[in-house]
Amino acid sequence: MIGLLGGTFDPIHYGHLRPAQEVYRDLGLESLRLIPCATPPHRRPPLASAAQRLRMVELAAPEFPGFIADDREVRRGGVSYTVPTLLSVRDDIGDEPLCFILGSDAFNSITTWHRWQQLFALAHLVVVQRPGSPRGPLPAWAAPRVCTRAEELADQSAGKILFMSVVPQDISATDIRAAIARGETPPADRLPPPVWDYIHRHHIYRSHSS
Ligand code: ATP
Repeated sequence: MIGLLGGTFDPIHYGHLRPAQEVYRDLGLESLRLIPCATPPHRRPPLASAAQRLRMVELAAPEFPGFIADDREVRRGGVSYTVPTLLSVRDDIGDEPLCFILGSDAFNSITTWHRWQQLFALAHLVVVQRPGSPRGPLPAWAAPRVCTRAEELADQSAGKILFMSVVPQDISATDIRAAIARGETPPADRLPPPVWDYIHRHHIYRSHSS
């Protein structure tokens, strides 16, 4: 099985990386692709450029064996919808099981995503708890897809939903950007040192409050 974690990654931090590492280990994934978006559909434009966010992902990945920085959304440009990304990954991997990892905040709004029903033909969803975003009641459309054992994901290439408990990481990119804008150095347990070094050297997030 292959895992994907997509995001704005403005910047990438351990709140993205550590839960993804737990998923990688617990599901015995072959690799985990980190895919920074070009333009995010559902939020304000990022402060760092797509090239900078991709570079930060490339700097973060080596700390986590099996993680790969994947530039396909940045190369494609424009608004990064997930379905075309999954179609493009499918072209590369054939019918191997594919797990799209997302936080509970993202899952709670998934029915607002472009062509969201098509996600299930292309990937499984693995939902990790994000502190401050408790999962709402299980929607009726989701119930038939939910599985409770990780092994069930390997039985088919797409279409299931697994809720996984992970060690909570109370870290947000918004807080990191705000701390940097105040002139602070984010604590070392928030983001990989090479990512902080890059932010610092390129003066990213210095003059903004969010
Ligand atoms: P912000 O903190 O500014 O809201 P973000 O980190 O939520 O930014 P993205 O980079 O787009 O924004 O997040 C990518 C994915 O990582 C999403 O699925 C999100 O739910 C998940 N995620 C982000 N932070 C955490 C966290 N602390 N714990 C679990 N999942 C997270």
